[in-house]
Amino acid sequence: MTMYWDEQMERAEAGELQRHQLKLLRQTLERAKNSPFYQRLPLDKIDSLEAFQAEVPFTRKQDLREQFPYGFLATELKQVVRLHSSSGTTGNPTVIFHTKKDIEEWTNLVARCMYMIGTRAGDVFQNTMGYGLFTGGLGFHYGAEAIGALTIPIGPGNSKRQIWFMQNFGSSVIHILPSYALRLYSHFEELQIDPKTLTLRIFIIGSEPHSEAMRRQIEDLYGVKAYNSYGLSEVCGPGVGFECPEQNGIHLWEDYFLVEIIDPETGEVLPVGEEGELVLTTLKREAVPLLRYRTGDLTRILPGECACGRSHLRIERIKGRADDMLIINGVNLFPIQIEKTLLGIPGVGKNYLIEIRKENYMDKLYIKAEVDQTIFEGTLAGLTQLQNRIAEELRSELSVNPVVQLSEPGSLPVWEGKAKRVNDRRNKE
Ligand code: ADP
Ligand code: ZN
Repeated sequence: MTMYWDEQMERAEAGELQRHQLKLLRQTLERAKNSPFYQRLPLDKIDSLEAFQAEVPFTRKQDLREQFPYGFLATELKQVVRLHSSSGTTGNPTVIFHTKKDIEEWTNLVARCMYMIGTRAGDVFQNTMGYGLFTGGLGFHYGAEAIGALTIPIGPGNSKRQIWFMQNFGSSVIHILPSYALRLYSHFEELQIDPKTLTLRIFIIGSEPHSEAMRRQIEDLYGVKAYNSYGLSEVCGPGVGFECPEQNGIHLWEDYFLVEIIDPETGEVLPVGEEGELVLTTLKREAVPLLRYRTGDLTRILPGECACGRSHLRIERIKGRADDMLIINGVNLFPIQIEKTLLGIPGVGKNYLIEIRKENYMDKLYIKAEVDQTIFEGTLAGLTQLQNRIAEELRSELSVNPVVQLSEPGSLPVWEGKAKRVNDRRNKE
């Protein structure tokens, strides 16, 4: 069984891939000349990657907001067949337009990703992500149909109904937020159904940062393989990056995107292996080509080749957005590091919250963690022991001194969409 959707492109030899990229970059610059925002740049002069980096400044999310609604549009409006948009809770939403070809290319990209991890015609694909303006719904929907999978556009929520569909239609591939995957499990428990007795085979988890520990937990609970899916609506949506069967880094598709990692403070381009902010240039987009777009996401390019045979580079799982970093009494850390430690401790349940307060002019970190059912029904000594162990491990691994508060299984707040685990109250009290 071949594992490639587009073997020639996925395995393209490095030099060939670079030549192809440069050709696509030239075409992109040509199109970008029609965009009101990029018009002012000397795009005609650029004939190499070096010139590109020297002449083209970064594009920021702020620019997309300021240019609302049509400032980045590089085609005529009548060529546009769809728009997607962010929620826009903080000012103008970012609106991204798609031509017919943009949708086709995006579909192909998602199909490539899904095929890579073993989705085939004959699979039943249940998409629990939000349909509508959010790209996780429609983006995957079209990709799955292109492969020929029976696609169930169920959307988010209503856990009992999710399970009912899984049982009755033999769902084998599930697209789901990692935080929701853990929550859904408690509904299986309630219904006394073991998900391992169903036909579930593959989980596609993504859209939000999650740790390796969380992936393993999902795989163990459901008896599936879970793959990390990365994307952002500004450059299309899902499909930008995906884990291969090796589960060792996220392949970014270099025939669709030009990838740079930069120092978020200085803007300097960093070498392979060094951690920084991911910057993407779209290579095929027609309606809204983006040049050197700062994603805000922190990661690094992994050195070396992947055992799967694909030549496209790999990045490490996303650590978070640059502005997710917490500074607690001078110690820098990311929520995902707390999650990794927490979920590595037996007895910790399926949901947690991080709260930071100001007490006596010092930052105080509170970790609220659900315990699992067996600990909850056990002894008080068992609970105290768990509480101490969590505090201990966070202290030794992250050099912070938290107050740990345990909660009943299923008692902490949940989210309809992406998890919001950090409540920083320092400037609110
Ligand atoms: P919004 O910015 O409103 O959340 P998107 O749905 O486009 O809109 O979200 C894209 C962002 O979600 C990415 O920039 C990244 O921060 C996060 N994200 C997406 N996939 C992953 C993933 N697999 N791991 C970590 N973060 C992710
Ligand atoms: Zn690989």
